[in-house]
Amino acid sequence: MCGRGRGNAHDIKVRRRRRFMIWEWLAVLTANNGECVYCSARSQTMDHVIAFADGGADELTNLVPACHDCNRRKSDKTPPVWFIGMDLAIRWWGNGTPQGGSGLGDSSMSLREMYLSIHKEVLTLLDDLDTVAAEIADPKRRKWFEDRYWLHGYPSASYGVPRARKQAEQRIKEEKERGYPSVSDEFARRMGLRGHVGT
Ligand SMILES: [Zn+2]
Repeated sequence: MCGRGRGNAHDIKVRRRRRFMIWEWLAVLTANNGECVYCSARSQTMDHVIAFADGGADELTNLVPACHDCNRRKSDKTPPVWFIGMDLAIRWWGNGTPQGGSGLGDSSMSLREMYLSIHKEVLTLLDDLDTVAAEIADPKRRKWFEDRYWLHGYPSASYGVPRARKQAEQRIKEEKERGYPSVSDEFARRMGLRGHVGT
C-alpha cells in the first residue's frame, strides 16, 4: 500500500525543478534593494523560503533574494529554524546551558528563556520576508519585468543573470522611482512628450 500523501517517495521523485527565465531572476534579485534578505549583502541567488525538497513551490511567491553564503547555510531549513539554530550555535556554552543575551558569558539561561528572547527577532525576520514577498508579488512590478525582459529568455553561458542584471540595474532603479509604469503608461507618456496625446 502506498499513497500516504505528502512525503511519499514517488511524489517527490516526479517533482522537477524548473528553470527560471531572466526576467524572473531580475524580478527576485533586485527586490529588497538588491540585498540578501538574511544579511543585507548583495543578493546573488534565489532562496526558496520553504525548501523545494520539503514541497516548497518553485514559483516567485516562494523565492527571495539571498547571497550565496546564506543560501548555502540555510540549505533546506525554514527561516525560523535556521535562525534559531544559528542563535543556538552562537550561545551554546557546551556545559548544558545557553549563555545569556550579552554574549560575554556573564549569565546562563534556560532553553525556555533563550527561546523567548529570540522570539521577537524571529517575528521581525518573518515580517521582513513578508515585505519582500509582497514586493516580488506586486503585479505591476512583475509585469514590468516580464514585458521588458521576457525576450531575453533563459540564462545561457553567453548571457547570464549577472550580465543581464548589470545592464538592467540603472533602468530598474529609475523605474522603481516612477513606480513601474505599464507598457501603455509608457506609451502614453512618450506620445504626450511628442504632443500627440493629452489635453
Ligand atoms: Zn546573506
